[in-house]
Amino acid sequence: MGRRVGFGRWSGAALPLALWAIEGAQDQYSGQRELMVREQLEVRGIRDAAVLRVMREVPRHLFVPAALRGLAYEDQPLPIGHGATISQPYVVALMTEALAVTKKHRVLEIGTGSGYQAAVLAQLASRVYSVEIEPELATSAAETLHRLGYDNVTVLPGDGYQGWPREAPFDRIIVTAAPPEIPQALLDQLAAGGRLVAPIGSWRSQELVLVEKGKDGKTRRRSLGPVAFVPMRTGAR
Ligand code: SAH
Repeated sequence: MGRRVGFGRWSGAALPLALWAIEGAQDQYSGQRELMVREQLEVRGIRDAAVLRVMREVPRHLFVPAALRGLAYEDQPLPIGHGATISQPYVVALMTEALAVTKKHRVLEIGTGSGYQAAVLAQLASRVYSVEIEPELATSAAETLHRLGYDNVTVLPGDGYQGWPREAPFDRIIVTAAPPEIPQALLDQLAAGGRLVAPIGSWRSQELVLVEKGKDGKTRRRSLGPVAFVPMRTGAR
């Protein structure tokens, strides 16, 4: 951190080396990740071994703005620009555990943001499709994911209210911005036997909802408790 001098003037050959040097330093964060898993996730009841393993592995500090890297493993959300936030680690783990993702699953995420939640899902799923309404966030998240080797994630700049009809149905759907109601398009794009998690409600007062779609296509929903997400925007593409 704080040593970003001269990036713009470096030659094409030196730039990848500089990025490697930064990422090579990621091991210095593994101790912080371990503490995060123990003190924020395990004590609050996250039990799924695969989820805990992935939370120990994904370099969260590389998904936050450089100036906030030192706070990456703190028990809090962090601003990532454009009014968006990277969720608190516990909320990422809770939603991921509720989804019960396996390597057979194709997952749709609404709200790519930093790309961190997509990276966590990518390690558990066969493929992740992530929709982001803010074009600059979509671009930077796609770059980060590509650079870190997450080649089973596709980021689509667009409005998540429409889902991603071309790739539907999805085995799992996660919404990381809060709509007032579950968008019908997303329920329609959820496969039979599928699961969807979403924060539902108004500004700053939402409940995390888990929807399970039976083999018969009927849905059941239950609440996983109160959460606070940025509102899901309605808007043109
Ligand atoms: N999952 C992200 C955090 C997302 S914050 C992470 O791991 O970092 C919520 C994101 O939802 C923001 O980036 C915001 O721009 C995006 N968003 C808001 N409304 C949206 C919509 N209608 N469609 C797609 N993305 C939306």
